[in-house]
Amino acid sequence: MVLAERNALRTDLGAVRAVDTICAYCGVGCGVKLHIDDRDRIVWVDDQPANPSSQGMLCVKGRFGLTFVNHEDRLTKPLIRRPSAGGGTVLEEATWDEALDYVAEKFIEHRDSFAVLASAKATNEDGYVLQKMTRLLMGTNNIDHCTRLCHSPSVEAMLRQLGSGATSNSYEDYDNAGCLMVVGTDTSSNHPVIASRLRRAIDERGTKLIVVNPKRIDLCDYATYFLQPNPGTDVALFNGLAKVIIDEGLLDERFVRERTRGFEEWAASLADYTPERVQEITGVPAEDVRGAARVYARPPVPRGLEGIFAEAAAAKGYGGSCLIWGMGVTQHTCGTDNAHALLNLALVAGQIGRPGNGVSPLRGQNNVQGCGDAGCIPDNLPGYQGLGDANRAKFEKAWGAPLPSEPGLRATEMFELAARGRLDCMYITGENPLLSEPYIAHAEEAIKKLKFLVVQDIFPNETAEYADVILPATSFAEKDGTFTNSERRVQRVRKAIEPLGDSRPDWEITADLARRIARRLEMPVAQFNYEHPSQIFAEMASLTPILGGISYARLEALQEEGIQWPCPDADHPGTKRLYTETFNVGPRAPFVPVEQGPPAAELPSRRFPLLLNTGRVLYHWHGGTITRRARTLLARSPELQIAINPQDAARYGVKDGEDVVLYSKRGDLSGKALVTDAVRPGDVFVPFVKLQEHNANFLTNAVYDPKSRIPEYKVCAVRIERAGAPQVWRRGRRESVGPGRG
Ligand code: SF4
Repeated sequence: MVLAERNALRTDLGAVRAVDTICAYCGVGCGVKLHIDDRDRIVWVDDQPANPSSQGMLCVKGRFGLTFVNHEDRLTKPLIRRPSAGGGTVLEEATWDEALDYVAEKFIEHRDSFAVLASAKATNEDGYVLQKMTRLLMGTNNIDHCTRLCHSPSVEAMLRQLGSGATSNSYEDYDNAGCLMVVGTDTSSNHPVIASRLRRAIDERGTKLIVVNPKRIDLCDYATYFLQPNPGTDVALFNGLAKVIIDEGLLDERFVRERTRGFEEWAASLADYTPERVQEITGVPAEDVRGAARVYARPPVPRGLEGIFAEAAAAKGYGGSCLIWGMGVTQHTCGTDNAHALLNLALVAGQIGRPGNGVSPLRGQNNVQGCGDAGCIPDNLPGYQGLGDANRAKFEKAWGAPLPSEPGLRATEMFELAARGRLDCMYITGENPLLSEPYIAHAEEAIKKLKFLVVQDIFPNETAEYADVILPATSFAEKDGTFTNSERRVQRVRKAIEPLGDSRPDWEITADLARRIARRLEMPVAQFNYEHPSQIFAEMASLTPILGGISYARLEALQEEGIQWPCPDADHPGTKRLYTETFNVGPRAPFVPVEQGPPAAELPSRRFPLLLNTGRVLYHWHGGTITRRARTLLARSPELQIAINPQDAARYGVKDGEDVVLYSKRGDLSGKALVTDAVRPGDVFVPFVKLQEHNANFLTNAVYDPKSRIPEYKVCAVRIERAGAPQVWRRGRRESVGPGRG
């Protein structure tokens, strides 16, 4: 089918118009064309070939999963919890005036004990208004978002070594790399369109692929090396790869000499990480450690390179390497150390800052990059401007009142404090911590202790069950705005349909609420008099140097191109790759020595002899609040599958497809056994989507990386039993002898 036909308006499905916008699932940021019928329903979704991030590709979620927008479960009226006739409480419909006046008064009452969870699914404009209200009116930096739960270790490490937590390269660098090292991400499930680009480079260019993952993933079929380390041993593995590069003279000496510092001390710290010792710690054969290091440091020149990519490869005599990682690296108690070890590897090989190479923490949610850019983090103003006097003075002048200088609470700290009764009030927008926090039973206790909770979302969810007020927001399809994807591309989100019921865009709700708070506090009400998100973006850009040259007018003129930040002025074309000349920390990036410590806070025991690993599946997104409401996706993945190696399945008497129960010290979940050698003996894998009322976070461990405060979602000890079988262990004592013998 030719392109014009493929993207023709689907009148056969009743479409009367089509609107170009951006997929609202993952951080790849694919362009979509929504076909809308005369009842304002999305009846079909096409790709958008002009979008440079997706190049006419979409995955199953973007293609078939956006129908959630019109789902009957959508929240369409504000709800206030009131006493019910029979005792207890009930959520009752209210007007916007009633709900927002009530929330404004309660927020002011709890102004000294208040925190906000922002949404990485919302637009940049939504996030900007939310953090402005939090800082300017509520007088606190207690605002954070889901990056705390996915890439906060990457951001910590990258800020220290490079000066920015963003991906350094563009997706086009994957297309033109000689080596792609994919670490701790099942890219085909999490970021399918990126996976397509990786496969295309391998097929068409002869690019080498190194996969590092404790679980065998689809991309392994294309890999030159598949390194399958024991969980929690990434530091040893990456220190070992770096040592091979140094010992074999494969380092980029000029890059190390001119663009890094601390090399000698760091190199000395690697003395013990010989490939043989790395094999002992990680289980990865020493020869594979050597081989992967050689390919990463000296990749082949890919076939058919042109332009700057050909020049870069010719200058070096070898190709570029892209280091791409996901939450398998970060969601550990040593997550920040893992990220440092990765960055050290890129620096010693000089594989950063030129065409065809770079470092990429693949961002999860569609706008997790933009949510941080907009300032929804506790220790930075918009654009990663610190809380120091000069930056605060700039914002205070623009916003007309003093701002707090102390860093605020990080998301995980909010729940720890709430659990101890030391946080009274939360405003949770577009997040569902009672699915996403580790050890959900503990998080639930924390939420119950709040004195006042406001949930703003598009669907009712587990957290909303405890809300005092629920505010109905619109989906991405019902509002204008911008998202910023994983390659820092600011893209225009366009309103395709009218808001369902009385729902309103997040920015509009927050601005209305802020005006009510400001009036009561006799603070500057006019600061929240926005009539269109373009005004919000203009204000954000005027105060945020990395976005300074971006405007709605430019984005509209460029149509689907978008603009990659940093873009400091209106004549600047945007930036495809960072660090070509210098780093944001200065001309030289520091090496940071890191040592392999205990692999996890909780290790296997007699009672819990297996290690649980968590991740995603192709057909669901995060906790599944949205994808469970996309019929096509749910039909393909209706129940939790618990992946277990055939050896363990035989040992514990489990058959493929059988109902099983997984237990950890904190809870249990049920699902179907999937017997597969994709997981190593001793490991089990469960996706963290909630299906049929079961979720991996019933089991996960609420322990944290001390540097980034990310929870250790990736490792905890569990045991498996057949459903209905007599329990092998109860109250810590063995009650019957069975296959769970550890
Ligand atoms: S890869 Fe991500 S952004 Fe693209 S269609 Fe799939 S879910 Fe949407």
